[in-house]
Amino acid sequence: MARIGVLALQGDFLEHEVALRHLGQEVVQVRTVAHLDGIDGLIIPGGESTTFGRLMSDLGLYRALADMIAAGLPVWGTCAGLILLARHVLDLSYPTLAALDIVVDRNAYGRQVDSFEMDVQVPVLGPEPFRAIFIRAPVIQAVGEGVEVLARLPQGEDVPRVGAGTPIAVCQGRVLGTTFHPELTQDLRFHRHFLELVAGRVAPI
Ligand code: GLN
Repeated sequence: MARIGVLALQGDFLEHEVALRHLGQEVVQVRTVAHLDGIDGLIIPGGESTTFGRLMSDLGLYRALADMIAAGLPVWGTCAGLILLARHVLDLSYPTLAALDIVVDRNAYGRQVDSFEMDVQVPVLGPEPFRAIFIRAPVIQAVGEGVEVLARLPQGEDVPRVGAGTPIAVCQGRVLGTTFHPELTQDLRFHRHFLELVAGRVAPI
C-alpha cells in the first residue's frame, strides 16, 4: 500500500488524514525532512501560506520537497497548499515550490466573501456535482500550457471580482491543486482521485 504524507506544520492536515484513513490509506504526518522518507505522495493542506512558507524555510523542507517533486513525487495542494505549489504568487514574500505553472492572487475573492460554498462540476470525478468550500481562497489568474483545468467557477454564480470560468482545480502531471477544500466535506472523490494519481492509474498529461 502507498504511504501518503500530509504536511502537518499548520492548517487542516487532520481533516486530510481522516479522509485518507476512511479510504484505508496509510498516512504519515510530515513535520521534518526525515518524515519525507519513503512517502509515495504528499498533501499540502489549507492554512496560511505565509506561515507555511516561514516554517518550511526554517525546517529545510523547501529544498527536500522541491527535489522530490522534480523526481516525480505526486503532490496535492488545497488552498494554501495550492499557493505553495504555484509558479508565481502575487504578494507572497516566501518562495514557492513552483510545481504548477499557474499565477495566483492570494485572497482575491475579497473580504466580503471570505468564505462561500457552491456546487461545481468536476468531470474527472463523474457527473455528480462536488460541493466546493472556499475559505479566503486564492484566485488562479493564469494557467500555462501544460496545465489541465479540472474545474471552473460556474456561470451565473455571483462572486464579486472573480469571473465565471475562472479555474478552481488544476492538474499538471502528478501535481494537483484545488482552491477549495475537499477535506472539509464527506465527499472522498478528490482524495480517491489523488490516490489514483499516486498509483499511476490516471495518465499524467
Ligand atoms: N488565503 C490563505 C493564504 O494566503 C489560504 C486560505 C486557506 O488555505 N483556506 O494562505
